[in-house]
Amino acid sequence: MIRERAYPVEPWHIRETRLDMDVLAQSESVFALSNGHVGLRGNLDEGEPHGLPGTYLNSFYELRPLPYAEAGFGFPESGQTVVNVTNGKLIRLLVDDEPLDVRYGELLSHERVLDMRAGTLHRELHWRSPAGREVKVRTTRLVSFTQRAVAAINYEVEAVDGPLRLILQSELVANETLPAQSRDPRVAAVLESPLQAEEELTTDDGGLLIHRTKVSGLRVAAAMEHEVYAPARKTIESEGYEDWVRTTIGCVLQPGETLRVVKYLTYGWSSRRSLPALRDQVGAALAGARLDGWDGLRREQREYLDEFWDAADVVVEGDPEVQQAVRFGMFHVLQAGARAERRPISAKGLTGPGYDGHAFWDTEMFVLPVLTYTHPAAVRDALHWRHHTLAAAQERARTLNLEGAAFPWRTIEGPESSAYWPAGTAAFHIAADVADALRRYVQVTDDTALEREIGLELLVETARLWRSLGHHDRHGQFHIDGVTGPDEYTAVKNDNIYTNLMAQRNLITAADAVARYRDEAFHLGVTDEEAAAWRDAAAAMHIPYDEEVDVHEQVEGFTRLQEWDFLGTPPEKYPLLLHYPYFDLYRKQVVKQADLVLAMHWRGDAFTPEEKLRNFLYYERRTVRDSSLSACTQSVLAAEVGHPELAHIYLREAALMDLHDLNENTRDGVHMASLAGAWIALVAGFGGLRDHDGNLSFAPRLSSRLARLEFSLQWRGMRLRVEVRPHQTTYALRHADPEDVLELRHHGEPVRVTHAEPVTVPIPHAEVSGPAPEQAPGRAPLLRLPENEP
Ligand code: BGC
Repeated sequence: MIRERAYPVEPWHIRETRLDMDVLAQSESVFALSNGHVGLRGNLDEGEPHGLPGTYLNSFYELRPLPYAEAGFGFPESGQTVVNVTNGKLIRLLVDDEPLDVRYGELLSHERVLDMRAGTLHRELHWRSPAGREVKVRTTRLVSFTQRAVAAINYEVEAVDGPLRLILQSELVANETLPAQSRDPRVAAVLESPLQAEEELTTDDGGLLIHRTKVSGLRVAAAMEHEVYAPARKTIESEGYEDWVRTTIGCVLQPGETLRVVKYLTYGWSSRRSLPALRDQVGAALAGARLDGWDGLRREQREYLDEFWDAADVVVEGDPEVQQAVRFGMFHVLQAGARAERRPISAKGLTGPGYDGHAFWDTEMFVLPVLTYTHPAAVRDALHWRHHTLAAAQERARTLNLEGAAFPWRTIEGPESSAYWPAGTAAFHIAADVADALRRYVQVTDDTALEREIGLELLVETARLWRSLGHHDRHGQFHIDGVTGPDEYTAVKNDNIYTNLMAQRNLITAADAVARYRDEAFHLGVTDEEAAAWRDAAAAMHIPYDEEVDVHEQVEGFTRLQEWDFLGTPPEKYPLLLHYPYFDLYRKQVVKQADLVLAMHWRGDAFTPEEKLRNFLYYERRTVRDSSLSACTQSVLAAEVGHPELAHIYLREAALMDLHDLNENTRDGVHMASLAGAWIALVAGFGGLRDHDGNLSFAPRLSSRLARLEFSLQWRGMRLRVEVRPHQTTYALRHADPEDVLELRHHGEPVRVTHAEPVTVPIPHAEVSGPAPEQAPGRAPLLRLPENEP
């Protein structure tokens, strides 16, 4: 964990003012650049030292066998693992006789800055070689949002003394050696030399490499080309071998002179295209990049981000760290989804190999709700990706003797890649999560074309799953037995409340959609009886409640399980999953992450305010937050039940997860759900945004530290700006047509916002609500409120 503040607090930048070797891998994740298609970890240009070298292409994976000591029917047999593809970031520099390596000589200064408005990573260093020769190096790197196959690096080296003989070696390298794997199940499998060489080619100023994976048979091409601006005579030549291509540039600089090299880097991959086709593809992408040139690429990047921030920025006054962190979070969320284009948004985006590069429910329940309101085009693509995986999900359902579609718990391309049933396939709620993301997207964008084209089928197939997975008991009540909810410390139990409530909404949404698209539903084989059965199941859904303790049960019987011995659990035994057997976790009242509390957010319409408060207090005392997917939800509910200071503390935990490396595993990639969670905690927590039943409602109320919160939302082609101050909220429509009107609810009261004028309404006085929430002993929030008093 980075206990001291690692990066100075600045609104639009993440700045690292000195190179700290101890947290190199963590900073590589923080400084990763991606557009959702190509991802480059923030490795140093010269490649060494490194924490974890990483270059990823969305959905480029290798298959590996999933071994079982004791196999069982329906166990997935192979898993997909993200591959570290050809590294094109490498630029090594020889200063007279000495390779630039920050571990040798003297590093007089070193700074890296992630600029979230420019979309670039900038680095400046001043180095004195062991022989006493000095250079200043300035590099800027981008992964283009506008040209998805393209990355570029502007590399400048200035001679401080001289004359200096500089040799710059710019490379493409395949099959880099990766550090050995740890025993933490959350990191990725390390694949030894996963790429087989197919072609290498060089020109004077660049080259390309084409490789193929051994088992999945995917082909990847990487190409580079250089523009060299030298003040004096220069040499340039390239050579290539199976796994590497190198362009060498030589030049002598006088003191104060600068050599500038622009490296254009392009990637392409395919499971089907031929080698010549892929070669042409990366060549064409290079031509496109050179057409724009470095300045053009930078300008387009800026324009793209200006547009994004105009729609998505959140302004937070009163906690500058959160201000910085929520922008950092939004920037990474955008990077993960912007150009994913019908490929998954994985739990780490393309920032690291953690979780083998898999996408989980994190996408639908954490990332997509944020993008739906801020950058819906990426959500449309992500839903298309799920739809592409429908055949695999249907096949999985058949294997499990179920109907409809059983979406995988973790995957890259569709097949289930989880080898652990209780916290894998048994987490059937993913089906309802997909349906809910779809429902929200259609509700917010009015994209009925997508609903008709793919949405209906997703709803029908997920509803079918629930109908076949659950059953009516002899009293008519509908139960979904033997499943795992979001809390992975309670597994394979009956009637998980989150699953049941989300399935209930899934069934109703599907039945409603069938009524709207009767012809299409007919083609999917849906009869009136089937849709009626979905409504019956939804109406009879069992919601477990303990009358004696007067709280809902996370799963049937939860409140009578043995309590976890928190007092006997020392701090170093967290996360519990790395220190206790699952069997023990499963039979006690200990909660890894918000589950019932999450249900109270997304299905808040199913609980009364009093129930929410009682439930929150009960589960807060048993939740250990061993998953980064918890704090943001606890923040949302703490705000709703009248504990805004606690909400603020949890907001900080979610938002600062990676900037402070709170879970000590940011090295494997950033926590995309938690970063999205910062937005959720602000907008759904302090803003009180809810979107049940097609209605937009807010219940804004700030913590005492916040002076202002401002955010924008897209809603059916309109852009709503919400400005929350301690005692009032202003709703305004932006970029609206004169006839636009938005009806919303503010603390339960209807508010009509028109194009003509913003509406300012007071925030009702908060009732003081009950006892202060307590956490499980030893599990107090990781961070405190900001020091600055309001
Ligand atoms: C969480 C899951 C999550 C996964 C990937 C696990 O630790 O418990 O809910 O989907 O991480 O982020």
